[in-house]
Amino acid sequence: MRPSELLKPTPAGLYCQPGDFYIDPVRAVSRAAITHGHSDHARSGHAHVLATPETLDIMAIRYGEDFAGQRQPIAYGGEVDVNGVKVSFHPAGHVFGSAQIAVEYQGTRIVVSGDYKRRADPTCTGFEVVPCDVFVTEATFGLPVFTHPPDAEEIGRLLHSVEQFPERTHIVGAYALGKAQRVIGLLRQAGYHEPIYIHGALERLCAFYESQGIALGDLRPATLEKGKSKDFAGTIVIGPPSAFADRWARRFADPISCFASGWMRIRQRAKQRGVELPLILSDHSDWPELTQTITETGASEVWVTHGREEALVRWCELSGIKAKPLHLVGYEDENE
Ligand SMILES: [Zn+2]
Repeated sequence: MRPSELLKPTPAGLYCQPGDFYIDPVRAVSRAAITHGHSDHARSGHAHVLATPETLDIMAIRYGEDFAGQRQPIAYGGEVDVNGVKVSFHPAGHVFGSAQIAVEYQGTRIVVSGDYKRRADPTCTGFEVVPCDVFVTEATFGLPVFTHPPDAEEIGRLLHSVEQFPERTHIVGAYALGKAQRVIGLLRQAGYHEPIYIHGALERLCAFYESQGIALGDLRPATLEKGKSKDFAGTIVIGPPSAFADRWARRFADPISCFASGWMRIRQRAKQRGVELPLILSDHSDWPELTQTITETGASEVWVTHGREEALVRWCELSGIKAKPLHLVGYEDENE
């Protein structure tokens, strides 16, 4: 069977015809396999959802218990038969519970990696290379200019600034699922054991991570009573990026605005957002990680789902690997 008959792009998402299911569909479908809990990949309303237990829990937290008709949990390394197609899930290292989905039929194996990164993350299982014929990859940071610095370096800059400005509040913008917990985990790893204050929008997901055995240390609500802004002087407060647009962020003591994102590599973006201390922390692979991963899978063909496809497709071709962009719509590259 040709790979393009096993998986093909459709307006609803990547469709496996022999198995009659979609991977990360952007519309409600009868059968979906979901790589991870970010809202552009995991949507509510599917009749049947196959995902890791962690991702199913995250979807229930975000959308409510009735997010799908039926849930089928599958652990890392587990394999199920879907209408004759072998489907297995493998760690993607992107956020807690994130998985690559391997589909195998009549001797052809395609791995859909979803979003992924290769560097160690204290809040999720590390990426595992799955050998395959076709590797389906994102290209959020698919340009050679994107090389993310070591995490410890970025966290070190934050801690240095906290030390330098004890009278100010450091407010860190970080996405609610994955990035926020990772920033907290990296701070703890760097030896920061003071209380960390979190915006209400992060509470349930942080509590969920804790319940799953991922220790985040002393977390407290960043609720502020009028006229008491001095309470937060010298502390680190973490909130979702959306909170920075409202008055919440302006109530803290002489705040220093920080933002944890791979996009902080681009000065312009930091400036536009009014970020004083940009922290280059990404949950996506940078260029060296993308090309390393493609090489390691041994795939003879690469499909690029979303992001900056052209440079990566070109790199593959120069490396003797067949490659094409899938032009899938509905995935955002901001959630990182
Ligand atoms: Zn994601």
